[in-house]
Amino acid sequence: MVEEKEAEKECIFCKIARGEVPKEKFLYENDNFVAFPDANPKVEGHTLVIPKKHYVNLIDMPETMASEMMDAIKKVFELRSKEGAEGFNVVSNVGPAAGQLVMHAHIHVLPRKKQDSWKMGV
Ligand code: AMP
Ligand code: ZN
Repeated sequence: MVEEKEAEKECIFCKIARGEVPKEKFLYENDNFVAFPDANPKVEGHTLVIPKKHYVNLIDMPETMASEMMDAIKKVFELRSKEGAEGFNVVSNVGPAAGQLVMHAHIHVLPRKKQDSWKMGV
């Protein structure tokens, strides 16, 4: 438990959720989730949706949070659609074997255009 709390203190996404990283501008926030731009965007408007509380990944998160998570994802759809997105890929890497690098649950929302050249893989 003490180790877990230490991990949360150091976790970059916990810091972003707490507002300790000022350069991160939130696109949207509700009681339990926040959306902000990915620092290394794979496509224009690449956005991350994360729970404010530290969960390692989706497996760790309670099902009761699903509707609020969906609310945040749909708000990102709305905002990015206004900026010209024509479609989206929604991806979550769960576990290192699946490419998860940041051990705080997150959903990638990737705005797409018919003519963009990106091939899926986040
Ligand atoms: P994953 O491989 O699913 O764990 O992806 C983690 C994502 O977090 C990557 O796309 C990184 O570019 C992104 N990332 C890491 N650190 C930051 C940060 N400080 N601010 C915004 N995005 C970040
Ligand atoms: Zn965290």
